[in-house]
Amino acid sequence: YIIPVVFHVIHNNGPENISNDQLYNAIEILNRDFRRQNSDIALVVDEFADITADIGIEFRLATKDPQGNCTSGINRIISALTYEGDSDMKDLIYWPRNKYLNVWVCADAAGAAGYTNLPANVSASWLASEDGIVIRADYTGAIGTSNNTRSRTLTHEVGHWLNLYHTWGPGNNPGVSTNCNQDDNVSDTPNTIGWTSCTIAGSSCNNSVDNVQNYMEYSYCSRMFTVGQATRMRAAVTSSVAQRNQLITTNNHNATGVLNPPLCAADFSVDKTNMCIGETVQFTDLSYHGITSWTWNFGDGIILTGSDPDVHRNPSHTFTTPGTYTVTLSVSNGSGDLEVSQENLIVVLETDELASPLQEGSEGPWPSSTCSIV
Ligand code: ZN
Ligand code: CA
Repeated sequence: YIIPVVFHVIHNNGPENISNDQLYNAIEILNRDFRRQNSDIALVVDEFADITADIGIEFRLATKDPQGNCTSGINRIISALTYEGDSDMKDLIYWPRNKYLNVWVCADAAGAAGYTNLPANVSASWLASEDGIVIRADYTGAIGTSNNTRSRTLTHEVGHWLNLYHTWGPGNNPGVSTNCNQDDNVSDTPNTIGWTSCTIAGSSCNNSVDNVQNYMEYSYCSRMFTVGQATRMRAAVTSSVAQRNQLITTNNHNATGVLNPPLCAADFSVDKTNMCIGETVQFTDLSYHGITSWTWNFGDGIILTGSDPDVHRNPSHTFTTPGTYTVTLSVSNGSGDLEVSQENLIVVLETDELASPLQEGSEGPWPSSTCSIV
């Protein structure tokens, strides 16, 4: 089952405005965990090693918005509501929940690392715009402003979004004895009071050992879902409750562009624009989606073309003649082509001349830097 995802980064120009790479990393970790491809699955204790589950659910960033237009799958909205992380914040932007899993990324998720709702709690149509996951930016992915310890937060929240309770039951308070009186409605997770630390051999409610390493624990050493939890999540995603079953259709995959992603934009950036002869420029391809070949015309007579990402996606190039250069990038994804030019992007100066003499008799703009040798 494939679920289209959209990230809404709600930020106030602070560190909560996390990078695309951090969001891509979050999706990678989510898929790794849901497909049981995490290497630390090997650390699951013997009692549960035989019931770790591949959920068989995959998450992909949308490439088409609700109107069918190209999107990166990442929206960025400036608002001080990032410090609230509440329903008002969600009201800033919401995409139909029968097409996307909405994930709002913000500075403060209403006091939590993240939160969401079970499908049944938002099944009413008037609650549709509440449906999705709110997560703190610094608990998203494992890189940038987040870290490894926090990186399973999205895995945990998606578990709830797919109808899992905490292992100790419906409440939000682990570690209390009354939790032995309630259940998570999953037969292969032992009844437990719930854990807030990685007490791997911990036992409660008269078990031999609790499933402390479950993603639906608060133990911060989560590594697994159980087979029973997989069954429950797969039931949720094929159920009409909260329209989950509409997400996984081929029609919706085409509508959201998680199948056959369109070629949306050709774009690139450089690490410098003004330089002396012999300096090297690093080019970074920002084109999307699904680029498979690149042609770089550096404007100095050199053209680099090919389909090896390691060589052709983000090339570096050294300019050996003074002058001003327009750089053009052409990209293809196999079904279409796009091209972008950045006029007079690169200015290369002699190494033994000041910038100002070089300007005489020439047309600008010229850089203020100099390339004198001392
Ligand atoms: Zn939870
Ligand atoms: Ca159970």
